[in-house]
Amino acid sequence: MLRGMMMNEPLLVTSILRHAALYHADTEIVSRTTEGPIHRYTYADAWVRAQKLANALAALGMQPGDRIGTLAWNGYRHLECYYGIGGSGMVCHTINPRLFPEQIAYIVNHAEDRLLFTDLTFVPLLEGIAQELSGLKGIVVMTDRANMPESTLPGLMCYEDLLADQPGSFDWPDLDENTACGMCYTSGTTGNPKGVLYSHRSSYLHAMAACMPDVFGLSASDVVLPVVPMFHVNAWGIPYAAPMVGAKLVFPGGKLDGASLYELFEAETVTNTAGVPTVWLALLNWLDANRKTLTSMRRIAIGGSACPPVMIQRFREMGVEVLHAWGMTETSPLGLANMPKSKHAGLSADEALALAAKQGRPICGVRFRVVDGSGNDVARDGTSFGRLLVRGSTVCSGYFGVTESPAHQMVPGWFETGDVVTMDADGYVQIVDRTKDVIKSGGEWISSIDLENIAVGHPGVQEAAAVAVPDEKWGERPVLVVVRKPDSALTREELLAVFEGKVAKWCIPDDVRFVDGLPHTATGKLLKSEIRHMVTGPEGV
Ligand code: AMP
Repeated sequence: MLRGMMMNEPLLVTSILRHAALYHADTEIVSRTTEGPIHRYTYADAWVRAQKLANALAALGMQPGDRIGTLAWNGYRHLECYYGIGGSGMVCHTINPRLFPEQIAYIVNHAEDRLLFTDLTFVPLLEGIAQELSGLKGIVVMTDRANMPESTLPGLMCYEDLLADQPGSFDWPDLDENTACGMCYTSGTTGNPKGVLYSHRSSYLHAMAACMPDVFGLSASDVVLPVVPMFHVNAWGIPYAAPMVGAKLVFPGGKLDGASLYELFEAETVTNTAGVPTVWLALLNWLDANRKTLTSMRRIAIGGSACPPVMIQRFREMGVEVLHAWGMTETSPLGLANMPKSKHAGLSADEALALAAKQGRPICGVRFRVVDGSGNDVARDGTSFGRLLVRGSTVCSGYFGVTESPAHQMVPGWFETGDVVTMDADGYVQIVDRTKDVIKSGGEWISSIDLENIAVGHPGVQEAAAVAVPDEKWGERPVLVVVRKPDSALTREELLAVFEGKVAKWCIPDDVRFVDGLPHTATGKLLKSEIRHMVTGPEGV
């Protein structure tokens, strides 16, 4: 074998921010802060402050490999943590503050976090669980002296004080590219959350993939606002992807309601954004109610849950392109992205919409298989379905601190996603369901996603979930749980009528239950286990 003769430059996230600081020095990073005002600075500033933070961590006695937790919204100080911590050879462990406090305590303890960086917002939450966090050496509040809160937490440190006297340059260690730089726990709807440990290499490669034209399509002429939180799979890689291409970054802080997002989108002329369908539902409702439209937006990436076709259509009417994407905490997250191919140019509007509603086709670097229960590949015909397996440099090979043989290795070397899907000859994958959410009626599988997409297509429906209820004859039957729009008087019969002709007769839900609201997970997905309980439990509606 003849070895290539190219330099072996490690792929480190630090080099991404260095690049931005050198060649996009005055490109802005704009943040809505927890304290209130809008903060502005540049990539050059972020680079200096990431180095100040790295010096501060060293001064506090932190060591390479240490896990440093963050409990924070999307903002410039959180960005500094990504780079200052990761670049030091430590692990930036982003924690989802929307989890239950006991889950947060479990995660901090399981990861053995040594320090925790928190936004002001989460100080009360930490006060409630402080006694359980015995391994922590300290908590840093990401604010300045003037805004430091009164707190019962012992030895609280102030972020700006920590950075103030540190030099703005740091001797970054020469790291192996496989060194861990980030960590995120799965949301754990079943069992305890599990830690996924991202490396510099995986984060770098993932960021390159994220920028590709058929993925987020980012460039130096873009302004990107990640709505998806930096505590959820690194905001889908945007904090690495944006500086890689020199795109202006806009951080929304904790204000994710329609009015606040709209204000930032328009004021900062945002061209690209990304988030889960729940957020866009709220934005669309707000835009409709206020007769507004998005004027600078070019592309909205939607993923995390299935994006209903009606949502794609609404954004298209505003001239905004929708990128439907699929991913998991375990896959960094991007795995599938949906953009049309040249041969799709002649599709009718309906055909194009049906295609756009699929979860997308594989991004190069991630390999996909769809297999039956025995591990054999099913036909790539767009109708045969099976379990989705993935592998690649951005896919996790195991969980932090879990020694027993990984339960996810149904086929050795492949990660089992837990999704049931079809794949067509062009590689477009459609998620039928999560394995545990699929409705099994008379031996046939009914996709809850299909039913939900049809239900939310009705103008009177705000949100809908399809769940299985036990049935003596069929095993399980689908029932819809629906939140009506505020002014809607939609009836069960009217809603069930829209299913006629759209799905086979036996797939039409047996019943509709109207509720005031649906429960969501900490990452904004429908919480199916609780919704099933709402329907079948003693307090069933
Ligand atoms: P998480 O790791 O919490 O982000 O959850 C990953 C899971 O979210 C996947 O295994 C899918 O079941 C689901 N998911 C992600 N993106 C989509 C999508 N575009 N459509 C349907 N389900 C999705």
